[in-house]
Amino acid sequence: MISFSSLSLREELTRAVSDMGFETPTPIQQKVIPQLLSQPSDIVGLAQTGTGKTAAFGLPLLHHTDVSLKHVQALVLSPTRELCMQIQEEFKKYGYYMRGLRTTAVYGGVPISGQIREVKANPQVIVATPGRLIDLLERKALSLEQVKYVVLDEADEMLNMGFREDIEFILKNTPQREFTWLFSATMSNDVRNIAKRYMKEWQEYAVAAANVTNENIDHQYYVTQHHNRFETLRRLLDFAPGIYGIIFVRTRQDCQDIAEKLMRQGYHVSPLHGDMDQKMRSKVMERFKNKTLQAIVATDVAARGIDVNDITHVINYELPDDPEVYTHRSGRTARAGKSGICMSIVSPKEISNIRQIERIVKSRFHKSDIPDGAEVVRKRLFHYLEQIENAQPQADFAEVYQSVIHEKFDQMDRDELIRRLIWLQLKETIDVYNDAEDLNASFQSRENKNRGGSRGSVRLFINIGQKDGINSNERLLQFITESTDIEPGQIDRITVRDLSSFFNMNSSAAEYLVQSLSSKKFKGRKVRIEEAEQRDRDRQGGYSSKPQQKSFSGDFRSGGRGENRGEGRGGSQKFNKRY
Ligand code: AMP
Repeated sequence: MISFSSLSLREELTRAVSDMGFETPTPIQQKVIPQLLSQPSDIVGLAQTGTGKTAAFGLPLLHHTDVSLKHVQALVLSPTRELCMQIQEEFKKYGYYMRGLRTTAVYGGVPISGQIREVKANPQVIVATPGRLIDLLERKALSLEQVKYVVLDEADEMLNMGFREDIEFILKNTPQREFTWLFSATMSNDVRNIAKRYMKEWQEYAVAAANVTNENIDHQYYVTQHHNRFETLRRLLDFAPGIYGIIFVRTRQDCQDIAEKLMRQGYHVSPLHGDMDQKMRSKVMERFKNKTLQAIVATDVAARGIDVNDITHVINYELPDDPEVYTHRSGRTARAGKSGICMSIVSPKEISNIRQIERIVKSRFHKSDIPDGAEVVRKRLFHYLEQIENAQPQADFAEVYQSVIHEKFDQMDRDELIRRLIWLQLKETIDVYNDAEDLNASFQSRENKNRGGSRGSVRLFINIGQKDGINSNERLLQFITESTDIEPGQIDRITVRDLSSFFNMNSSAAEYLVQSLSSKKFKGRKVRIEEAEQRDRDRQGGYSSKPQQKSFSGDFRSGGRGENRGEGRGGSQKFNKRY
């Protein structure tokens, strides 16, 4: 078996990798590292996060770095700030013993001044998001004149995010570039086009996704307003009739309150938290193990005592502050080769936390719609039909009542009898879900659905423009898509002015965007984003009064508990600090 010591890496790197506990190179590392060490060339690596691809390009990159030279020799482009930070962290560990090595990460969403200082301190390696790098180039804070190696990491993701022009601009501005290493999960046409235009003959290496995480877990998230969390939980439980799960909450009080509320509504659940004495906790565990309970509502600490293998669902009533805790929670399901589902209920402001957890867990999360009333009823109907199909009534039960039943329903049509039985079984669910609210956070509001479709497109005003460094439509798109989970395709008709910009989007998505961006800053300045309807009419001469934007904020600040407790923003700041 190949070991790291047999790879002819610099001794400092081999030592660092050993400190990190890496024993054998992963498949992509085995394929790529020897080639890039002995005969550097252009390569395409088709590998996903979790395969060890960072080390596959990072170790050869540092191996070839001349620490005696004080200029940028290697550049890694990556799509997001989180990924940049992660790569930088890894590089610091690999380069721990390389005296004189300086690596710097630059990315958007933080003040540029500190990064200007860092790039001026002559790093040999820069890890960057394309947008921020261009910003720094335009400010002449750094030069790529002598860059020899360029890595495009997660190239497909960068292209999806609308960075094509930025990438091309950067590649064109690396005149001394000798080697380009492109890593991508997929070889889409867009990726191939970049390779064809900017790379020399390349070798292609592909590996399957590494099994570093439990691939049997389906990570799902449901976006709702904070005040709809409980209703969302109920709906998810009703939509999973065969559930055997754990519902994670943050505090003992929440644990007690939520479990009691569910019990009052007829769910077979129980709380499990540290205020309960050992005897009570054992009793709960016993009922859970023999499946008298369909779910336990638990705090993280109390849940440590749960040793059960066939959990079907883990539900995060709220996300934990620490992404590592998420992995402990989700790891409660899909044990012993089984598959499982981990659902998280999140508010729009917490979507960026999901992105961070994705990096840690190394899996994509699926944004799922909270089912509507009709879907829940349908699901329960099918579940009931399945139960009937699989039921095995006791033989003597049938014999004893056979004649009575026969006599009673002899005259009744078979279909009518079935209809009535099913009605009786589902009556309560149908009652509860008759005209049930749409709990999804506003991609399409109920109001719109009732009107039979979208209200159409609205024009939005945002208080950042060219003077803030928004030097292209793509730059604005980049900021918006990096800060929210809005897709580039949802935005059009962008106009960038000196101090502000305008763009169009679907009105229900606009509500969502306004809400998601309202707590964000751009280069230290609080972002203001509003409907621009009045402004446009002004320009068209319809109004003579001074321009005013129609603010969405009145509609959105619904006074949900999250806002009162300062949870939304406080929570994500805490997240950001950790990573
Ligand atoms: P990546 O795919 O680059 O995001 O890496 C996934 C994780 O695997 C990171 O936490 C790395 O530190 C770790 N890793 C990379 N290569 C190895 C290796 N050869 N042995 C053990 N862990 C590794």
